[in-house]
Amino acid sequence: MLNPYRKDFPLLDQKDRVKPLIYLDNAATTQKPEAVLKAMEDYYREYNANPYRGLYDISEKATERYEEARKVTAEFIHAEDSSEIVFTRNTTESLNLIAYSYGRSFLEEGDEILIPISEHHSNLLPWQQLAKEKKAELRYLYLDEKGHLKEEELKAKITSKTRIVALACVSNVLGTIFPVKKIIEKAHSVGAVTVLDCAQSIPHYPLDVTALDTDFAVFSGHKMLGPMGIGVLYGKKALLEKMPPFLTGGEMIDFVSEQEATFAPLPQKFEAGTPNVGGAIGLMEAISYIKNAGYEKIRAIEEELTAYALDRLRELPYVTIYGEKYPSENRSGVISFNVENVHPHDVSSLLDADGVCIRAGHHCAQPLMRYMEVAATCRVSFYLYNTKEDVDAFIESLKKVRRWLG
Ligand code: PLP
Repeated sequence: MLNPYRKDFPLLDQKDRVKPLIYLDNAATTQKPEAVLKAMEDYYREYNANPYRGLYDISEKATERYEEARKVTAEFIHAEDSSEIVFTRNTTESLNLIAYSYGRSFLEEGDEILIPISEHHSNLLPWQQLAKEKKAELRYLYLDEKGHLKEEELKAKITSKTRIVALACVSNVLGTIFPVKKIIEKAHSVGAVTVLDCAQSIPHYPLDVTALDTDFAVFSGHKMLGPMGIGVLYGKKALLEKMPPFLTGGEMIDFVSEQEATFAPLPQKFEAGTPNVGGAIGLMEAISYIKNAGYEKIRAIEEELTAYALDRLRELPYVTIYGEKYPSENRSGVISFNVENVHPHDVSSLLDADGVCIRAGHHCAQPLMRYMEVAATCRVSFYLYNTKEDVDAFIESLKKVRRWLG
């Protein structure tokens, strides 16, 4: 399978490896194209300086590029204003920021927070902590056997008590694509705010926060070809403006006296300390790479690979696939499965001997594992540089695992 993108990823083309690398853990993190690596290297080699404060050329350039990254990110997700984009470390920090700042200010005893049972711990623990502190209730939306939200759950659980509805657009375990537009409308109809965890969707599907009318949306740079250590929080300006700061310190103030402080306007109010300028520049370049490739093309590659992998996995009678077993418009390129009588960790370790990288474990979704009555699963996930040959190598390696251990 000729793949026009693979050559752009140096990690996938290491000549001195004993075995070629078959990287199928893209839901955990993606590989980085040369252009992203170069943009970050250029920053560190040519104009590395602390932004905002320095009154000299390279500091001004660092500030300019950092703010350009914010503008590019805002345009990419159709935010109305670039001040609605706050740079964080990752999805996890963005969600903590919302729970800490919005949640602690606006939730009251007896209020309800609603999340699907499939949420990543990042979109669960901040709400669990908040609910405990505020004597609010964290409620769950349960899924059907294919991993989809049950209609009756939505009807019953989005009520006048619901203050926050937080959910992933795409499940990192089952690959389910959730009907977020409908859920946002329903949440707004009872006056709740919505939080979209786009960590698993934005690498593969466009995000339009204005069309969706979501109150918040969050994602990580490293899952969309960018570097680790840069994340995004989008929030509607009116909400961000009335929220108190999350972290305090340098860069986020307007005026400080011995006992009092006033805070900088958005978005600096939420960006305490020296920001990750190199990370933001890397993210901007990653966005440019995704735009040039085009989501349609990315999806076409992933859909072909997902259909092919599901077909090949279904041929193996000792493999159980979780969630949707067939390609569908409601599932992404994440496939969770188990091999009869073999622990997922053993599957992953044995595949590694063939250079095949997959994920095994609870995928930071222990309540979902318990709900599905499994301790752990194996997971493969595709991105635009994967090929059918990658899938073949994975399947052949999986057959060996079964022969040795099953
Ligand atoms: N949410 C989802 C759906 C995820 O898949 C992940 C990571 O796997 C996260 C949140 C957390 O992302 P990060 O570790 O970059 O904060």
